[in-house]
Amino acid sequence: MFESLSQRLEQVFQQLRRRGKLSEQDVDAAMREVRLALLEADVHFSVVKDFISRVRERAVGAEVSKALNPAQQVIKIVHEELIKTLGEPARLNLSGPKPRVIMMVGLQGSGKTTAAAKLASLLRSQGERVELVAADPYRPAAIKQLQTLGERIGVPVYTESGVKPPELVSRAFEKAQKSGVSVLIVDTAGRSQLDNALMDELKAITRRVTPNEILLVVDAMIGQEALHVAEGFRDTVTLTGLMLTKMDGDARGGAAISIRAVTGVPLKFLGTGEAIDAIEVYDPGRLASRILG
Ligand code: GDP
Repeated sequence: MFESLSQRLEQVFQQLRRRGKLSEQDVDAAMREVRLALLEADVHFSVVKDFISRVRERAVGAEVSKALNPAQQVIKIVHEELIKTLGEPARLNLSGPKPRVIMMVGLQGSGKTTAAAKLASLLRSQGERVELVAADPYRPAAIKQLQTLGERIGVPVYTESGVKPPELVSRAFEKAQKSGVSVLIVDTAGRSQLDNALMDELKAITRRVTPNEILLVVDAMIGQEALHVAEGFRDTVTLTGLMLTKMDGDARGGAAISIRAVTGVPLKFLGTGEAIDAIEVYDPGRLASRILG
């Protein structure tokens, strides 16, 4: 997915590698290319600006180390600053009394239902007793989809027809409490766009049960639109984390770089394919290396 960005940076760095010593003009020329590469990768303008100024400041004033040539030093700085932009790795908060509730929110088609099943499978492999809740009574197909996924991974799916989501989640919680479930993953309804009814419903659910985590699932392929979606949800519910899906597609990657910096919500997981095990715990170092190649 980051091919064009890493190739572009690679070219810049190739040019830098050929020079013995870096002048301020060299750094500026390199930064121009890095800036273009990031903008072309659909990274948010304000993030690019901040990133470039941090790298430039460090690169121009950097002491020349014996181990690295000046170009390697710039690459090292770019790598380090990219990791900073990508944010700290953030773990799931699974503390407190059982069942802990993880609410999955997001727009329709973002990969939310798939993400709920992926997470269920991952947590179960870590020894948790997991149950899924299909809290989307408006779309029978969505319930069926979660049930099919649940069967495939051997995780029970709670649902009830004709019950509104807040009540449904509350009942699922009580049942899970009695039966010793340790993690309840709630697949909430998606909509094709942000609307008040969806937001009111999400708020109503959080008044009935207090989630440990509210994870927003966002499709990385929608580029900078992902930032608007994240801001919309963040303004309604207390998002505790993000899962960016379809990172295996040919998205330009900008969303992954910008979303943390712009929204302040930490990335926790990446979806890297349609298969149930195509989920990665977010690791900024790994992502930065992938971006830079
Ligand atoms: P929902 O409407 O948000 O619940 O979305 P779904 O979970 O139904 O996913 C929508 C489509 O995206 C399905 O065809 C999924 O197989 C696909 N999908 C979900 N996550 C990923 C991913 O990480 N990579 C790819 N390539 N496809 C994904």
